[in-house]
Amino acid sequence: MHHLSNLTTERPTFVTHLECGLKGDRYPADQLHGLSQAGRPLLVRYDLPALAGAVSKDELRARPADIWRYREFLPVRRRENIVSLGEVLTPLLPCPTLQTGRGEIFIKDEGRLPTASFKARGLCLAVSMAKELGVKQIAMPTNGNAGAALAAYATRAGIETFVFCPADTPEVNVREIGAQGAKVWRVNGLINDCGRIVGQGKEPMGWFDLSTLKEPYRIEGKKTMGLELAEQFDWQLPDVILYPTGGGTGLIGMWKAFEELKAIGWLTGKLPRMVAVQATGCAPIVKAFEQGTEFAELFPNAHTVASGIRVPVAVGDFLMLRAIRESNGFAIAVEDESILKARDTVAAREGFLMCPEGAACYAAYEQARAAGRIDADESCVLFNCASGLKYELPPQTGRLDCTKPIDYAALK
Ligand SMILES: *Cc1c(COP(=O)(O)O)cnc(C)c1O
Repeated sequence: MHHLSNLTTERPTFVTHLECGLKGDRYPADQLHGLSQAGRPLLVRYDLPALAGAVSKDELRARPADIWRYREFLPVRRRENIVSLGEVLTPLLPCPTLQTGRGEIFIKDEGRLPTASFKARGLCLAVSMAKELGVKQIAMPTNGNAGAALAAYATRAGIETFVFCPADTPEVNVREIGAQGAKVWRVNGLINDCGRIVGQGKEPMGWFDLSTLKEPYRIEGKKTMGLELAEQFDWQLPDVILYPTGGGTGLIGMWKAFEELKAIGWLTGKLPRMVAVQATGCAPIVKAFEQGTEFAELFPNAHTVASGIRVPVAVGDFLMLRAIRESNGFAIAVEDESILKARDTVAAREGFLMCPEGAACYAAYEQARAAGRIDADESCVLFNCASGLKYELPPQTGRLDCTKPIDYAALK
């Protein structure tokens, strides 16, 4: 079956080692790792010249349309360790009514992925690598979508999972996590409090800690967003990427993709400006960006309707800030009110229901246009990271009594 051939064909892999994102010290491949000795995220390194010799753009194009077409850019050594739920390539939707000048606006709709969020990309890779490296039990703090993707992939891999959510995590997330086979708890704190429970429990419980960026492979999964965008834009990337930023895996992963593609000569034009979008109620990266610091501080009293980006402290802060600055981008915070308004605007104009985090990108686009930080002629990609259907929607009050004559004129 051709459509499964990315999963059934043996393809070469090129990981050489892992490297501390901060200090650059090296760690061997093919062993289980958490953070580096400096307590920072590890980045996976490849033999890029050999990789470039093993696959071409034309070969890629001919493969089935799922993330495993990028196998040579990914760390899983043996195809039988790939844990897949059908990681389709996601559409890039042109949105002409959102355009303010010649610059085209696209929504990258990540809600089409398994478990209806882009967390599937990261967790698909992290769980596949956990399987390859013999992990039997995983624990994770989550604001919802990551836990759902973990539960799905780990269950499919036969790995036991323990998931800890802030008590006000959207109900659907807590339920889907449980329904997909994880043990799940609501915790009366924020995601960093849940992270502490995992950190302190991992020794006595024998858990592998799959917190954001505390293992090396979620970034590699999120990297496929960058590979995919580059291919979808025919290797000429748009001017600006607006990304709703929580733990930052996606921002870091996409930037890593662009660097690798540049290194092998597949990208020759200028790279996009990376814009980190946060909510004013939880904007540690925006604060650090504006203050010009290398690291971010814990953001106090974090709150926002966009639960996926409610991350008051992130271990990969310096990697996000580095990508934003190297790309000549910026970090911007938007009010919850404008997030919900943006969701309504996009739904009404384009017939597309964004999740609040995705809507934050459109709110940020409008705000940045008004402030002259994005030009009307710049092409932009807005990331819609989850299905809008996973979130509470505005109530609808219309009712009709079918036993009485309908007043059709009143329906207009
Ligand atoms: C996790 C999540 C984010 C943030 O993604 P990171 O790559 O961790 O910054 C944004 N939106 C949604 C819907 C999410 O689930």
